[in-house]
Amino acid sequence: MLMDENMNEVISDLKSYLEYLKGMGIFALPAAEINLGQPNPSRVMSLDEVQKELGDCKRCKLHRTRRTIVFGEGNEKATLMFIGEGPGYDEDVQGRPFVGKAGQLLTKIIESINLSREDVYIANIVKCRPPQNRNPEPDEIQSCNPFLMNQIRVIQPRIICALGTFAAQTLLKTDTKISALRGKLFDLEGIKVIPTYHPAFLLRNPERKREVWEDMKKIAESIKNAGHGTDL
Ligand code: SF4
Repeated sequence: MLMDENMNEVISDLKSYLEYLKGMGIFALPAAEINLGQPNPSRVMSLDEVQKELGDCKRCKLHRTRRTIVFGEGNEKATLMFIGEGPGYDEDVQGRPFVGKAGQLLTKIIESINLSREDVYIANIVKCRPPQNRNPEPDEIQSCNPFLMNQIRVIQPRIICALGTFAAQTLLKTDTKISALRGKLFDLEGIKVIPTYHPAFLLRNPERKREVWEDMKKIAESIKNAGHGTDL
């Protein structure tokens, strides 16, 4: 009887450990750790698997007010990935990222470097709309982040353009202001990150478009240097 209880405790601990690893984006253990006696080649997930894992997510309170989970969309093999803050009204209704007014501006920004939305991948820091478009809260960002990180690991873009404060600060783990981060080059797991202003900010402050244009030129240059033409 005591033996059974101990065994149940071990299984329960193991389950919690595996859940913890899953939350960190680790879906496979090295062979030595699971003691199978043979190498376990690192497994590359697909976006479908990441989405399946996300499921009908209720990991944070944003699930209570959302209509749809806005997973992200675009080219699974994109060289360039855009990451914004979170879905707004239009995105929540349509289940697609950046489809409202800010999205239309993002499309123009993408086209300014001779790419289309189909060439790139677009996602957000949180996948559910915060009520009244308020800022996402730290616990919500933390709950959603492992799935975004897995999307990044599947896509393995050369460059990520972080759109706005929350995307830049979350990806770069900093609280530096976007005005000080924009246009600079950072590293995330070997991927270049260039922050710029969020298109919604540009709609309110059109005079800042020139800076975004400068940042996009840097991105286009980085793509070129990485051996990819801008006509992907
Ligand atoms: S925001 Fe992310 S973590 Fe929160 S419920 Fe939506 S999908 Fe899940």
